[in-house]
This record gives sequence, C-alpha cells and structure tokens, in this order.
Amino acid sequence: MSGDLVVALSGGIGGAKLALGLSWILRADDLLVVANVGDDFEHLGLHISPDADTLMYTLAGLDNTKLGWGRRDETWSFMETLTALGGEDWFRLGDRDLAIHVERTRRLRRGEPLSVITADFCRRLGVGPRVLPATDDPLRTKLRTDEGWLDFQDYFVRLQCRPVVRELAFEGADAASPHPELLAALRDEQLRAVIVCPSNPFISVEPILAVAGMREALSACAAPVIAVSPIIGGRAVKGPTAKMMTELGMKPSAAAVAQRYGDLLDGYVMDNADADEAALVAPRVTLAPTLMTTLAEREELARVVLGAADALASLNRAQNFA
Ligand code: GDP
Repeated sequence: MSGDLVVALSGGIGGAKLALGLSWILRADDLLVVANVGDDFEHLGLHISPDADTLMYTLAGLDNTKLGWGRRDETWSFMETLTALGGEDWFRLGDRDLAIHVERTRRLRRGEPLSVITADFCRRLGVGPRVLPATDDPLRTKLRTDEGWLDFQDYFVRLQCRPVVRELAFEGADAASPHPELLAALRDEQLRAVIVCPSNPFISVEPILAVAGMREALSACAAPVIAVSPIIGGRAVKGPTAKMMTELGMKPSAAAVAQRYGDLLDGYVMDNADADEAALVAPRVTLAPTLMTTLAEREELARVVLGAADALASLNRAQNFA
C-alpha cells in the first residue's frame, strides 16, 4: 500500500517553486525535499550551499522575489565594503545571507554533518518540511567547456554560463553515499511518490542521481517516480538548461528531458504547449499548465503531479492484482 510520504528531488529556483506548492498541500511530515549539493563550494573561506539555501528561503517565505535569488529584505554593506577593499566580489553575498554561511562553516568545522546543520537552520527559520542535502559527503559539479574544465560557480556565476559545455562530471559522487534518511524514505512502504522537480537536469538533478547507489535505490522503490519538465515550448523558463541541451547535442525540448531521464521515470508532466511531443515520451504523460508564476499555480501544479503519481500507483496495483 502506498502511503503519504513524498520525496522531491530539487535544484534551486525551478525546483523550489514546485517544492513550495507541495508544501502548501501536504503535511510538513509528509514532504522530504532533497537538495542538490553539486553547486556547493568554498568561497571567502565559507561553505556555501546555494540550492539548499534557495529551498530553505523559499519554504520559509524569506526568498528575494525581486532578485530571483538570495534573501528578502537584504542589505549589501559587506559586499560594498569587500568591493572597496578590492576583494573577490563576483559572487554576491548579502548581509543576512552571509550569516548563514558563516554559521554553517563554523559548525561544519566543528564536525557536524551538513544535513544536521541544514535541518537546524530550517527549524529556526520556520520551514516545515525536511530539506535534506542529497549527501553529507563532498560532491562537486565540474564542467568541461571550450575554456577547459571549470568549477561550477566559475561557470555559472563568474562566467554567467557563457562557455560552451561539452561534458559534466560530479567529483566525489562515486565515493559519496545518499543520506541514510533518503535511502530509508525510498525504501519506505509509506512512500507515495518521488517527484523530480522542474530543475536543470544536468546541473541540478543529475548530481543527485550521481551519488553512488541513488539510481539503484530509485529503480527499486515501489512508489512512482514522476518528473516535471523544466522546458516549456522548447525554452527554459530561466537559466542555461536549453543552451546546455543544444551544446550537449540534444534538441532543447520537453521530450528530450524525459528521454535523458530514461528508465528512471514512470510518469512525466509536461506543458500543454508541448502536447505535440507527448508521443515521443516513453513514461505516461500528463499535460498541464506548468509555468508557475503565482503561488496558486505552484499549488495547482503540485496537485496535478500528485494526482498523476496516485493514478500511476493505482494502475500498478491493478496490474499486480490482475
Ligand atoms: P537553479 O539550481 O537555481 O538553477 O534552479 P533549478 O535547476 O531548480 O531550476 C532551473 C530550471 O527551472 C530551468 O530549467 C527553468 O526552465 C525551470 N523553471 C523555472 N521556473 C519554472 C516554472 O515555472 N515552470 C517550469 N516547468 N520550469 C521552471
């Protein structure tokens, strides 16, 4: 019997939109949001976890909707002073945001796991659902580009995704283990669905899937695995997803994202705008409006995804019974 627990795999901004929708319609205990750690890096002596922080700020209602990243009501005294001193200022850290990185780094140096620190910050900021880094082990996304191998944030922020991407690697993934709570959730009889949020497949979802044992754990899990397309009408809503697809030799389309995930998926939610591609997708397709501008749209898409997952689960049960 499937139960109540929903696991959502997420990057930053696109993933956090759906995670917020899910958090409005599920009980906090029923939602486990798994954050990509491939974007994490050391900067100015601090450990920065961009995706977990985006999720935490979004779920706490503290996200900066004007900038589209970082914390709301932010001030920039630290950054302005750093610039005046000729310091490294290509990665912008607001004053409030900075406190998170300072405290996280202090606790990591004391030997606390990233997941424990993240859980504690979430509790203190009033986040209901659990936000869990995919692994507590070091895992770093690297990109081979026309300018050579680059660290993720060099590519993403310093060079603003301009270099042409040829290949990705997830340093540390083979030696990393999925967080035990994540493995337990995937084995849990009460698992209702695994949702792959509409995040960038290459730099947000695949670093989670690259953690040793993750793909096997997902294949073995009894609940349906369902993804939401981050591509609408051949374009990314934001960020380099479509550009990367072209550079990696794929057509930027919702169907190509499903094909990239391959056997992992039981279901796929794609936008009404992409209805003509549905026949190219192997898992069961649900068409819906997938652009999440308002909170109501986030909630509605969350309902659609859960409905599609529940339908898949009943179908499975009927087939097993027959
Ligand atoms: P990042 O880690 O901050 O880059 O964020 P993600 O990887 O989680 O999200 C980036 C992806 O989210 C991009 O491919 C966007 O196209 C997608 N995205 C952003 N907003 C939406 C939306 O409202 N609907 C859908 N379907 N995708 C979205």
